[in-house]
Amino acid sequence: MSGFCPELSGDVAEVRDWVHAFARDVVRPAGAEWDEREETPWPVIQEAAKIGLYSLDFFATQWFEESGLALPVAFEEIFWGDAGIGLSIVGTGLAAAALSANGTPEQMGEWLPQMFGTENDIKLGAFCASEPDAGSDIGSIRTRAVPDGGDWIINGVKTWATNGGIANVHVIVASVDPALGTRGQATFVIPPGTPGLSMGQKFRKHGIRASHTAEVVLDNVRVPGSCLLGGRDKLDARLARVRNGERAGEQGAMRTFETTRPVVAAMAVGIARAAYEYARDYAREREQFGRKIGENQAIAFLLAEMATRVDVARLLTWRAAWMARNGRQFEQAEGSMSKLVAGETAVWVTEQAIQILGGAGYTRDHPVERFHRDAKIYTIFEGTSEIQRLIIGRAVTGLPVR
Ligand SMILES: Cc1cc2nc3c(=O)[nH]c(=O)nc-3n(C[C@H](O)[C@H](O)[C@H](O)COP(=O)(O)OP(=O)(O)OC[C@H]3O[C@@H](n4cnc5c(N)ncnc54)[C@H](O)[C@@H]3O)c2cc1C
Repeated sequence: MSGFCPELSGDVAEVRDWVHAFARDVVRPAGAEWDEREETPWPVIQEAAKIGLYSLDFFATQWFEESGLALPVAFEEIFWGDAGIGLSIVGTGLAAAALSANGTPEQMGEWLPQMFGTENDIKLGAFCASEPDAGSDIGSIRTRAVPDGGDWIINGVKTWATNGGIANVHVIVASVDPALGTRGQATFVIPPGTPGLSMGQKFRKHGIRASHTAEVVLDNVRVPGSCLLGGRDKLDARLARVRNGERAGEQGAMRTFETTRPVVAAMAVGIARAAYEYARDYAREREQFGRKIGENQAIAFLLAEMATRVDVARLLTWRAAWMARNGRQFEQAEGSMSKLVAGETAVWVTEQAIQILGGAGYTRDHPVERFHRDAKIYTIFEGTSEIQRLIIGRAVTGLPVR
């Protein structure tokens, strides 16, 4: 197996250029409007579906691309366009990753197409792990799944779910044995229209406002045994191993986060790059004291730092994505490193971009204030920056850091 090489293959570069054109022509121009509307941008998702960007085929093809760089590269471009719309387009992909990480081939074949729908009948997917009392501490999940004959009955409240309540297919993490914490959890698919699943409150947010985030209430939701991802035999065998004090491997929610961290990092890289480029172009034009503001070292050095940090974040992201795709173990929590650095970079770079634009940057006449609001979520979801440091800290010290 060859080593990591950050040179894109012709196919990946082609996808990058194709996605960039869509982000530039369709996503970026719609960003401000859907941010203000705080609604799911269905027409933009449909445009993405028409060109095949919002489709199972696109996600599956890019997911299995051999270098592992295809999805991060594509996500960077979409989020360069706009992060709120971007999350509306790729949110289903995160739910699909959760399903793929835990489901059997039959379950993937049945449910993945129903998450995406068709270009004339768009559907969404949602991944629901977080709860009011279980955010970073995912082991405290209270949603309970109890077997009943061949079925499962699920009760609980999920929160912060991207596409929650408006998705066709929900992927839910529930506890089957609360005494075992994360090791007693299982992941279920809730089929479209299942009685008992409803949307709770929809959240009004600081950023990524075109992306729908809501509570999902599960009230005596009955699903057939076939909705338990991975199947009953596998779950029973795992629970038996845990009860015998043996290692059980990673659990549903954790496994999902491991696979998705580099692609989430790539979203943050896209936002950071957008802000950097906007500020750079502004600094080349804006004049004060009879010269371009970019001629001042104070501004040029800041832009130098911004450009460098964006590249650092991207390289860490590509390394983690390459490792994940090529079966390399994350020995130093490289997935978490990419998410940590990309998230913090996006927040920092977008703030500096506002500074470079001065008063103009603080207004909604320019997109950098929106980029800044959008960036902040990347130090919070898919594991906060503190949790990423915890994971990296444990990996590098080998100690049970708390
Ligand atoms: C817009 C949005 C979309 C989301 N989408 C989804 C989704 O689709 N599906 C889903 O399941 N979840 C989703 N989430 C939830 C997200 O993953 C959680 O918000 C996140 O995991 C943090 O949990 P929390 O909000 O409960 O914060 P808490 O866990 O309450 O953390 C609060 C603060 O305490 C810190 N902290 C907690 N524990 C420790 C510790 N041990 N050491 C040091 N610091 C600590 C945290 O870092 C943070 O700063 C979304 C959230 C938002 C806001």
